Amino acid sequence: MEVTNDNSCSWIKDLTPRTNIKTLQSNDDSEWLIIGAGYTGLSAARKLGQLYPNQKIIIVDAQLAGEGASSRNSGYLVDTTLNDGFTSNKELDSYKKKTDIYDLGINFVKKFINEFQVDCDWNECGKYFASSKIEDGKILKNFSDTLIKLGFKHNLLSNNELTKRLGTSFYNVALHTKGGVLLHPGKLVRAMIDVLPKNVCLYENSSLLNWNKNKDIISCKFKNGKIKTKKIIFATNGFLKSLGIKSNYNFPITLTASMTRTLTDEEFKSIGEPKEWGVLPVRPMGATVRMTKDKRILIRNTAEIHNPFKMSKSNLEKRSISQKIGIRKRFPQLPEDIIQSSWSGVVSRTRNSSQIFEKINDNVFAAGCYNGSGIGVGTLFGEQIAIKASEENTKEIETIEARNKPTWLPPQPFLNIGVKTRLIYERIRAKSDT
Ligand SMILES: Cc1cc2nc3c(=O)[nH]c(=O)nc-3n(C[C@H](O)[C@H](O)[C@H](O)COP(=O)(O)OP(=O)(O)OC[C@H]3O[C@@H](n4cnc5c(N)ncnc54)[C@H](O)[C@@H]3O)c2cc1C
Repeated sequence: MEVTNDNSCSWIKDLTPRTNIKTLQSNDDSEWLIIGAGYTGLSAARKLGQLYPNQKIIIVDAQLAGEGASSRNSGYLVDTTLNDGFTSNKELDSYKKKTDIYDLGINFVKKFINEFQVDCDWNECGKYFASSKIEDGKILKNFSDTLIKLGFKHNLLSNNELTKRLGTSFYNVALHTKGGVLLHPGKLVRAMIDVLPKNVCLYENSSLLNWNKNKDIISCKFKNGKIKTKKIIFATNGFLKSLGIKSNYNFPITLTASMTRTLTDEEFKSIGEPKEWGVLPVRPMGATVRMTKDKRILIRNTAEIHNPFKMSKSNLEKRSISQKIGIRKRFPQLPEDIIQSSWSGVVSRTRNSSQIFEKINDNVFAAGCYNGSGIGVGTLFGEQIAIKASEENTKEIETIEARNKPTWLPPQPFLNIGVKTRLIYERIRAKSDT
């Protein structure tokens, strides 16, 4: 099955279209093959290119490189999360292990943008976990206690201060963390494509259809050709399951988001000319809302089990309507029709919010499943899985592997029934904040 994305993502539309797109048209072979060219795959390719300048490394994507979730996300490079799946880690020890990984992720992205002088609208403005419900203050107080124990700087805020900072009186309680960065996800992943080393060959619009391993050779079949390789890294995140990778441990979730046009000076004045900010919901199914540097508003308020390969235009329009309502709730003074584009993207979830970082067979490796926080963790895991596949060890690999492994998931149809029920329950609990 081929991945067909909508072509309406604002972050992608902000960029100059790429040229020199190569598609696999005949058979090829390589020492290394990476499937998936998002943050994970591109970081793995960059690292392998540096480690093995004389070897052939191929990276393949089913669509245009970087145009999967890596360009379609909300652009929060997080140091902490309150909800990152269905069962977020709340115990101190597992929470600390998780934030150790986030910390490494932020540093790896920082290192990348410094080394290659990348402009991706990097803003170390922290982020808010906010809710319109005063009673959610309790959840935030408990979260604050955890953050204090782990030494994360933060503030609890209430309506008046939030109205001044965000330009909306919608939120009544919030916790602002100092750490965490807002960025332009499309610019970041584009830079990763632009700096691929010379010995890395990128094939796009070339979907992997199936693969098998016979002794030391891995054969991969694409629509118009085959690639034989010695080592393979699967970096397809939301599509790991469809390729049979750790399929009892992860499942895809489809998210949709919308972005407004740039607010006019008058509209921006009417909401108090706030600085760039990002709000994450207190309850799992609430909305993520962001005011961008260039005065656009982004909203993401859906997460669902959907055909991960495609979302029809009419289905996307339905989700866009709910996002229009979400913006109206927060900014009633703005005109009704200011959403410029809506798009969908696919992520991967595990049951216990752990990630996949593994050798799954001799010479076969996989990294993914970031439960919605893949900007930093994907960049980190991509580099580190390349090192692991080279049979080397690092302090970072030890930190990554100190976390619990993903737990087993029930088979279909029980999995979908369970996930759908949970999503409906969470949606009801978060209704006011979608
Ligand atoms: C709406 C939305 C909001 C999000 N918000 C945030 C956020 O604010 N912060 C954050 O950290 N994360 C966020 N995420 C999650 C984040 O985008 C992902 O975790 C991250 O992009 C994962 O990167 P990746 O490279 O592993 O996967 P992807 O970017 O999904 O790349 C995988 C690639 O594999 C390719 N592929 C799939 N199947 C095949 C095949 N058969 N053959 C060849 N190629 C294939 C796909 O085309 C895709 O390009 C969000 C995601 C979405 C959709």
